[in-house]
Amino acid sequence: MFKFLRFRNAAVFFTAAFLFSGCDETPPAQNAMVIGATDRASESQDKDIAPEPESQIVNLQLGGASQNKIAIGKKFMAVTANPHATRAAYAVLESGGSAIDAAIAAQMVLGLVEPQSSGIGGGAFMLYWDESSQKLTAYDGRETAPMAVDENLFITESGQPDSFFDAVIGGKSVGVPGVVKMLEDAHSQYGVAPWSSLFDDAIDLATDGFAVSERLNTLIKAVPKVASREQIANYLFDSRGEPLSVGATLKNPQYARTLKILAQNGSDTFYRGQLAQEMVAVSREDKNASQLSLTDFFIYEAVQRAPMCKSILSYRVCGMGPPSSGGSTTLAILGILENRVSDKNLLASDYQGMEKAPWSAHYFVEASRLAFADRNTYIADPDFIDVPIAQLLDDTYLKARSQKIVDDRPMDKVDAGEFTIPDVGQYLMQPSPELVSTTHLSIVDQYGNVVSMTSSIETAFGSRLMAGGFILNNQLTDFSFVPHNADKTLVANRVQGGKRPRSSMSPMIVFDRDNQPILVIGSPGGKKIIPYVARVLYEVLFFDISLVESIERPHILNTGRRLEIEKGAEQNIFSTLEALGHQPVFKSQTSGLHAISRNNDEWLGVADPRREGVALGK
Ligand code: GLU
Repeated sequence: MFKFLRFRNAAVFFTAAFLFSGCDETPPAQNAMVIGATDRASESQDKDIAPEPESQIVNLQLGGASQNKIAIGKKFMAVTANPHATRAAYAVLESGGSAIDAAIAAQMVLGLVEPQSSGIGGGAFMLYWDESSQKLTAYDGRETAPMAVDENLFITESGQPDSFFDAVIGGKSVGVPGVVKMLEDAHSQYGVAPWSSLFDDAIDLATDGFAVSERLNTLIKAVPKVASREQIANYLFDSRGEPLSVGATLKNPQYARTLKILAQNGSDTFYRGQLAQEMVAVSREDKNASQLSLTDFFIYEAVQRAPMCKSILSYRVCGMGPPSSGGSTTLAILGILENRVSDKNLLASDYQGMEKAPWSAHYFVEASRLAFADRNTYIADPDFIDVPIAQLLDDTYLKARSQKIVDDRPMDKVDAGEFTIPDVGQYLMQPSPELVSTTHLSIVDQYGNVVSMTSSIETAFGSRLMAGGFILNNQLTDFSFVPHNADKTLVANRVQGGKRPRSSMSPMIVFDRDNQPILVIGSPGGKKIIPYVARVLYEVLFFDISLVESIERPHILNTGRRLEIEKGAEQNIFSTLEALGHQPVFKSQTSGLHAISRNNDEWLGVADPRREGVALGK
């Protein structure tokens, strides 16, 4: 049971001061190809897009109440990234639909009103708790690479990796989208409302039009090369070539047509019919041509995988296993922290979050560096790569990892743990470029079923290609561009035909001692998804800080590259961590944490104040 809102005083501070240089776990160049360079180059394109103030334009009356960042409900709850989508989910839940039904209705709306983040042209991961069978299922609707590609997909003729946007824009980065198949599979198992009834809100909005929100307008202006293909330029820019202004009415009759087809025929037309043909044609005929074929669509399957769960304190924390690195990396961070904080009396009653307690921030970023080193080395599609997942989450291993953390300074350098992979030996540590878009929705229905779903077209506006009124993903750039080093040591997450790129998406559900779901959470944010989600779990589960307060508190993170402190945080946390030897930078963070927690018989829904999402429950 968590506290709703609580503000307390006092903090503990470190005093030690050691200087440390170099927080970057990315290995140095090891051959002519510049390992890790693409990652850094892409992040330098990652403009500092400030969080949004409360939307003035999308100001709907939801369920009789004004849209809200925080909602309480006894029966059901929906939290999504956009008021229209939350309203669609709410309507389904109110008329007796299941959490899966509501997720479908919300996703169809999000693909329209938040086209920069997710849609049916992309992929998703979803954890689903079925109350009646007490069963947790992990759905993998990740995109797949065309069968025809190989590890050199993103290597140029000169032998160098593509620059990030050369790879992103156009057909080459498009994987077979998985959202539709995943949702259809889940609906056939756990749907209550008829499939065809779940598209109406999205069809109406696409037909009648919706008001362009502040965030959509900001991203059209801020994201590079949005207008680089004709169709998307015609869609998101006006006749003078200006980005659609805030409040402009945007209609999408083509998307409405596509949704009507999906409502009537299910996924068949999407994977085996006219829509598949359209997506293949658009991707292949692009000047940055794809090798996608109709067969790639025909054989696509969403996969149901074993959820990745670990006991943390008195909780069971569950996430998504590979090909997402979200579950295992979040659990590794928490597992390492559990070992380190147990002797520190950290469950002290005056804890107010990492910003006020630099020692806990120090542990968090050091645990993150350790977990990311393993993630960057070992996590990839388990249908192609031997992932030593049990070893990575083993208690003894995490305890040993935790002992590497030094109390009064950052670790000099962080290596991945050493596991010998059959037939391969070692893998090469290699991050992959991931910029921030994506969306997370959390839903609980009146039957007690729970959805935690993160959905993405990868970078904002994906590949910039459109078919059927929706944007196609650029998810293949989540592969490592570089397949191996000069010694031919392989990268686990290299491109292979039919393979799913590694993800950071971290839909999570936390269970209490009685195996009842008590917290549902996830976020967008590229690889920062992991520390966004892990920080809140750390503060809420370890220190009993309220969910609302934790989501509002500044992010402090290190994904193995550098220590970032969210702009607006107190100077004291910056100075203390710097004095300790870290090299922090202030940076805007646009997490979109959408969470639900249970408190006795009530659900509390919380939408991240950094985005335009809202919670609504009854
Ligand atoms: N493509 C990323 C992933 O699958 C997500 C990108 C984002 O969150 O912006 O992990």
